[in-house]
Amino acid sequence: MDCRPDCGACCIATSISSLIPGMPDGKPAGVRCIHLLGDFKCALYGNTSRPKVCSDYKAEPEFCGYSREEAIRILSSLSDLPSPLDDPPPPLKGGYFLELYTTFPSTIV
Ligand code: SF4
Ligand code: SF4
Repeated sequence: MDCRPDCGACCIATSISSLIPGMPDGKPAGVRCIHLLGDFKCALYGNTSRPKVCSDYKAEPEFCGYSREEAIRILSSLSDLPSPLDDPPPPLKGGYFLELYTTFPSTIV
């Protein structure tokens, strides 16, 4: 699916474990990324400093739903799952959200 304009849900509701410029530890779920603009566009779009996890992420109906509100609900519910950062820590390839997807795909309905 195409990324929905005026959404930005994934830039707020998800945790990102990799470095974001100005957010060296990434960001926890529910915290708005400092690069999310007022019109819900990414200020780093097209910039080499944009985190790879953000550039690689593609909108999917399973996560993005059919509205911004639905995306917030789905992504927030994923963030309530046990953290893959807990013992034993699996190798992180990028964002927490992508880790959740690979760790708990059966929870997505
Ligand atoms: S939640 Fe999905 S539709 Fe919304 S901004 Fe992120 S990728 Fe795009
Ligand atoms: S860097 Fe851009 S795409 Fe990544 S979370 Fe922040 S606003 Fe969203």
